[in-house]
Amino acid sequence: MRTCRIFTIIALLICFGNVESAEISLIYPRIVSPQDTFIYDSGFDSTFVLGNVVPPEGLLKINGHRVAIDDYGAFLAFLPLRKGNETKSWELNLIQQGDSVALTFPYQIAEDREVETTDSMNAMLPAVVEVIAPHSHIRTTAEGSYYLFPPVGNRLRATGSEGEFLTIELGTSTAVIETRFVAFTKDTTVEQSFLGDGVCEVLEDWSVCRFELSAAAIWRAELTPDHRTLDVLLYNAVSRIDRIQFDINDRFVEDIVWHQEPDGLLLSLRLNAPVTRGYHIDFVNGQFEISVRQPFEARDKQLKRKIIVVDAGHGGEFDGAIGPLGNKEKDITLRWAKLLASALEHKGAIVVLTREYDEAKSLYDRIEIARGVHADCFVSLHGNALPDGIDPSTRSGTGTYYYQSLSRNAAESIHGHLLKAGGLRDDGLWDANFAVARPTEFPAVLIEAAYLMHPREERLLMNEEFLSRMANAVVRGLEDYFRE
Ligand SMILES: [Zn+2]
Repeated sequence: MRTCRIFTIIALLICFGNVESAEISLIYPRIVSPQDTFIYDSGFDSTFVLGNVVPPEGLLKINGHRVAIDDYGAFLAFLPLRKGNETKSWELNLIQQGDSVALTFPYQIAEDREVETTDSMNAMLPAVVEVIAPHSHIRTTAEGSYYLFPPVGNRLRATGSEGEFLTIELGTSTAVIETRFVAFTKDTTVEQSFLGDGVCEVLEDWSVCRFELSAAAIWRAELTPDHRTLDVLLYNAVSRIDRIQFDINDRFVEDIVWHQEPDGLLLSLRLNAPVTRGYHIDFVNGQFEISVRQPFEARDKQLKRKIIVVDAGHGGEFDGAIGPLGNKEKDITLRWAKLLASALEHKGAIVVLTREYDEAKSLYDRIEIARGVHADCFVSLHGNALPDGIDPSTRSGTGTYYYQSLSRNAAESIHGHLLKAGGLRDDGLWDANFAVARPTEFPAVLIEAAYLMHPREERLLMNEEFLSRMANAVVRGLEDYFRE
């Protein structure tokens, strides 16, 4: 710590005591509250440590390993974790011109947890459970992918349990759901649901088809590769369709066909043009509703007047990633979002920001904002970091993510422009199951401009000129996307 005082009249900087006293800041790992301990997964051999030293010089060793300090004082090291009976801590030692500072950060390695055998729960099975938590998910297996997102009120037949998970029947196969998402009912079999007659109509720029459905059913929707058919599989449902009424003004829905399959009822909406804008499926008041947004007319194929929802990642108590110099992702994404908003408005787009200041907002609230304004595209802005245990030298640069196939074209177009504008390493175009990329009502794209954990990339993300270049790249990406 320097003890300095500025005598304003003569603007003379006078320092007392030790003039250039050294200082180390460990930015990550860190603990949020003093009573917490930092725990690493037992599967890691090595992990990263990042932070900075002031002034930016000297010899830094962490657990005896020499660590490079860059011109700005930042460091990022990938180091072995201590195992067995060794003292588990990061010991940082900095020597600057004969001055030496030390800092110790204790950590723990998680014990391998045995999967609890839940005999009491198994005694209750098989049983029907009802989904009670919003935003719950069904996974393929306990360690597998997120697979389906059942709404509250859906019922599932549980046949077994392991730890936090219940094995459930899904048509002719099985999947799992976390016990916290469901409540047990007294039933042992799930009531079959019957899908009755349908009526289709045009509501603004949506084609909406509603069917009577006797009870909630889990569904899975998928566009065919040409995006001209929307297949909706209703598990455990049976067709009682006699008639489907079409709207003569609807030139988008060409036909609806159905098949009774081993897993349930497959309903296929055949469209006379690819689905580009989005679709929405819901079960409300006994009606199963499939809405598909009609494609743009040729004269509308431009960014002008499009509603773009710009989402500055994280905020409030959620900092997101933190760079070695201590810069927070939530501040960078907000700065970038504002630059993007003005660049888009300059091109005549209508911009909605999910947050305009430093506030915490849930991922689902962000999506609801976009649904509420009928977004034409949702762009979520982020700065990247890796999870513990991964060597940071293996990943850097710009990455773009989407989840729904209808979002792919927008993601690809934006990613290409970001690479050109930013000039960073291509960290990939990814299909990834992020909550904000999951909506089907509009194309949704998540961008990681650069890695905040890398000293050089942190400095770029702090640079207004870089962010504005990346904002303009998103604009060009969207322009190309709407033009197609
Ligand atoms: Zn983020």
